[in-house]
Amino acid sequence: MKVFKFGGASVKDANAVENARKIVSLYPQDKIVVVVSAMGKTTNQLEEVAYALWNKDEKTFYVNLEQIQNFHLSIVDQLFGDLKQEIVNVLDDQFTFLKQHFEKLELKNFDFVYDQIVSCGEVLSTLIVERYFRLKGCESSWLDCRKIILTTPNFREGKVLWNETQNLVQSTLLPLFQKHAVVVTQGFIGNTSDGDTTTLGREGSDYTAAILAFCINAESVTIWKDVDGMLNADPRLFADTIKLDKISYKEAIELAYYGASVIHPKTVKPLQNKNIPLFVKSFIHPEKDGTIIQEDTAFDAFVPSFIIKKDQVLMSFLPIDFSFIDEENFVDIFQKLTDLGVKVNLMQNTALSFSIVFDRAKSDPVSIAHALKENYKVKYNESLTLATIRHYNAETIAKITGLKEVFVEQRTRQTVRIVMK
Ligand code: ASP
Ligand code: MG
Repeated sequence: MKVFKFGGASVKDANAVENARKIVSLYPQDKIVVVVSAMGKTTNQLEEVAYALWNKDEKTFYVNLEQIQNFHLSIVDQLFGDLKQEIVNVLDDQFTFLKQHFEKLELKNFDFVYDQIVSCGEVLSTLIVERYFRLKGCESSWLDCRKIILTTPNFREGKVLWNETQNLVQSTLLPLFQKHAVVVTQGFIGNTSDGDTTTLGREGSDYTAAILAFCINAESVTIWKDVDGMLNADPRLFADTIKLDKISYKEAIELAYYGASVIHPKTVKPLQNKNIPLFVKSFIHPEKDGTIIQEDTAFDAFVPSFIIKKDQVLMSFLPIDFSFIDEENFVDIFQKLTDLGVKVNLMQNTALSFSIVFDRAKSDPVSIAHALKENYKVKYNESLTLATIRHYNAETIAKITGLKEVFVEQRTRQTVRIVMK
C-alpha cells in the first residue's frame, strides 16, 4: 500500500485534477490512499468566511461562499461536462449546509468556528476528485477522514489520538481496499470524540498522509509538488538551487525546524518511527526521481542548504539591577514569552543580557517589551534576516553575508545561523 498526497496546487483547476488522475493511473498494481488538500487557494478564502461568520458580517460571509461555490462549479463544468448533474447536487448540499452555519452554528469560540468552516475545502475537493476518478474508470472509494482520524478538541491544532485512530483505520479504511484499489480522502481534518470537526494546523495534509501511512504500515508516502523535489534553498530567493536527491529523516526535520517550507514539520516522525520512505516528487514530471527521505544519513552533507527568514526582530533583555542572567531570569522571561505566545527562532545570552529572535509578523515587539519592562531594560532591532546554513563552509557563509552587518552568529558542526541586516 502506498499513500499519495496532492496539495492545493496539484488540484487547483480542471487540468491539474486530470493530471493527478494520470499520476494515480501510472500505478495500476498498487493499493493507494490518495490524500487531497483543498483546491488552489480555497483554504485562505474559507478563512475569510470563518472571520465573517465570527463577526456576524452577513454580506462578506455569503459573497465569499458564493465565490468559492462558483470556483468549484467551474472546475466541475470542465471535468464532467454533460455528466455533471450528480456532483453538482452533491456540492449544492455541501453549500446549503455551510450557509446554514450563519444562522445555526454556535459561536462558542473562534477556533471551533474556524474548523467547522475551513474543513469544508477538503471535503469539496475530494468529492470532486473521487467522482472524477470514477468517471474516468479508476475504481475508487471516497472516505470521510473524520471517521478515522480522532483528535483532541484543540481546534486549529488537533492532537492525534493514535490508538483510537489506529483502530478506526483498521476497521474503516482497510476494508475499502477489498472493493477498490484507490481510496480518496481529505488531508488536514479530523474529528473529536464528540463529533466536532478539527483541523491539524495549516498545511497539515502532509501530516495526514504520514498518519495514515503509519496506521496502515504503508510501503511509502509520496508528496506530489510543483517542484522537482526538496531543493537546497527557496527558488524565489536563490537563482541556483540544487535538488536534494536523498536525505535522512533527521536532516528533513532539521530543515523543516529552521523554516524550510517544503514539508509540514510533523510529517517526518510517524514515518521515521516505522521506517517508511517519503518521496517528494514533481507532479509536472512524475517520471523524475524527486527526493527520497529515509533513515540513511550518509548523503546529508553533500549539498549545503540555505533557509532564509526575513522580517525578524532581535530583542535583548538586560536585568535592571545589573545582576547576571541566570536560571531564574530564564524562567521569568520564558514564562512571559509563553503567555504572549511568542515563538523564538533563536536565542543567545551574555553575562548581562539575554536575546531572542522572532518573526515580526507573528509577535509585536512593543507588547513584549511592555510585558518585561518591570525587571529588564529591553532593546530591539527590526527588519533583520535570519539565515541558516546546513553543512556550511567559509564560502557559503561569505555568499550569504556579503557586506551585510552581522548581529549574531551561532555555529555547531553542521549548522551556522546568522542574524544580519
Ligand atoms: N488546505 C490546508 C491548507 O491550505 C491544508 C493543506 O493544504 O495541507 O493549509
Ligand atoms: Mg497546501
